[in-house]
Amino acid sequence: MTEATNFIEQIINDELSTGKVNAVQTRFPPEPNGYLHIGHAKSLCINFGMKDKYNGKCNLFLDDTNPSKEKEEFVEAIKKDIEWLGFEWDKITYASDYYDDIYAFAEKEIMLGNAFVCDMTPEEISKNRGTLTEAGKESPYRNRTVEENLKLFREMRDGKYADGSKCLRVKIDMASPNINMRDPVIYRILREHHYRAGDKWCIYPMYDFAHPICDYMQGVTHSICTLEFEDHRPLYDWVGITLGFNPKPRQIEFARLNVTNLVMSKRYLKKLVEDGSVDGWDDPRMPTLTGLRNRGVPAEALKDFCARIGVAKANSEVQISYLEACIREYLNIHAERAMAVLKPLKVTITNYEGSEELDFDINPNDENKPTRKITFSKNIYIDADDFSLCPPPKYHRLKIDGVVRLKNAYIIKCDEVIYNEDGTAKELLCSYYPDSKSGSDTSGIKAKGVIQWVNAEDAVDIKIRKYGYLLKDEEYSGQDFSERMNKESVTEFNGKVEPYFMTADENKAFQFLRTGYFKKLTIKSGEIASEIVSLKDNFNK
Ligand code: ATP
Ligand code: MG
Repeated sequence: MTEATNFIEQIINDELSTGKVNAVQTRFPPEPNGYLHIGHAKSLCINFGMKDKYNGKCNLFLDDTNPSKEKEEFVEAIKKDIEWLGFEWDKITYASDYYDDIYAFAEKEIMLGNAFVCDMTPEEISKNRGTLTEAGKESPYRNRTVEENLKLFREMRDGKYADGSKCLRVKIDMASPNINMRDPVIYRILREHHYRAGDKWCIYPMYDFAHPICDYMQGVTHSICTLEFEDHRPLYDWVGITLGFNPKPRQIEFARLNVTNLVMSKRYLKKLVEDGSVDGWDDPRMPTLTGLRNRGVPAEALKDFCARIGVAKANSEVQISYLEACIREYLNIHAERAMAVLKPLKVTITNYEGSEELDFDINPNDENKPTRKITFSKNIYIDADDFSLCPPPKYHRLKIDGVVRLKNAYIIKCDEVIYNEDGTAKELLCSYYPDSKSGSDTSGIKAKGVIQWVNAEDAVDIKIRKYGYLLKDEEYSGQDFSERMNKESVTEFNGKVEPYFMTADENKAFQFLRTGYFKKLTIKSGEIASEIVSLKDNFNK
């Protein structure tokens, strides 16, 4: 048996060793009412992780018992996101596929004397439920006979009663300290079109009744869910025990993933899309899986993040810098390098004539040290931030009369500045040292700084976008999301890139030297260079 790396695996290992279970089956159970987000990635990694670890099975189970909010569009998006992460489900199942079974089990509860049709309205039921310190009141309909309950329940199914006028409840204990056990409703009347079941049903099962049945019908051994369902576990078990499930699936809860500066509730993400705060579910600032994919985050980096944060039983918040570090680490190894400048400053190399091709390192982390050709000429651009008119001490970039190395090219010296009317630098006149070429430098000149540049002759103009977070920092946490919204989460530069970047595939990640990781992205206004993650950690550890 493999060693357990978290408490869920510990439970499974114990069960395997005592023979309580002999195979492992999990399911990933999204409700198709929105797009998956990074929190779901954690649940996916846990559920599919168990499948891999124990050579078991994992289904994609669409938990569609809420007809009003569910759509086929979301089912398709969910499938695409899971495929992107590289997980393979054994089967796709739907709660709606089990409606007949769930209905039959409800009749069984009635026949066992465990369920009754209640004529109280939802408001009356909730009024009589009691409080944490006070027991609830029993329904006056609780003692109907089995025959009467069966007849009424079938009439409910056949459409004889108005929405909300009756419901089916199980008889447990109105004095239970767990409010979920106070005769919970398991079926309601609801005339609503279901995106898969159509208009076949006018009664729908509640989650707490449907879920254990669907788990059992699929052969799920471990029903892994988040902590807010802990109080529902007694009901999950009650359903399994009363209906004689053997083997009975076991529910195990783990802590939800929360990440600083990210909104994780579907409801709120939906609001951002609907009020136009973002450009859609796949906006690169969104913590949805489609957003992260569009941002250029590699699936491997996301899975690595989920593995490293681990599985805990207590809720906590993970620093977003940790997620960024995982992305950066992956891209540092895998991304090709390219040159780009965010704020172009024209440089004329007065003693250089013609043009030449130079070797450029594609990726210094690749042990084969691959190179490609870049062109060099007397007209180049450097980043305005790499030049200073009044440099602080130990400034190693370019300054008047100072030298700097142009990456994979020559050392240049700034001889003269041409100014804008406002006194800022408009253009630099520089000279180069012909014997200082990278790789064969015999000049003896020491340039402490190395900066990136692009050749003005072939560089391409492009909007370069950098992103901030959708939510302001932790110091604002506790405030409502709308107050924490960061209104300036996009910064756009009129930059220049090497032509090589423009010929690359949209999803290919590049490290723009000394700037960050970027990918090409097509938005309404055209192609942009879109930031994946900055190069350095913006945060104090
Ligand atoms: P939301 O509150 O964002 O709508 P949800 O829990 O309603 O999320 P579901 O579609 O029901 O979303 O979730 C599918 C699975 O993913 C469930 O097992 C759920 O517990 C899990 N899950 C959802 N959010 C997170 C999270 N932040 N961290 C870990 N698991 C999560
Ligand atoms: Mg849910």
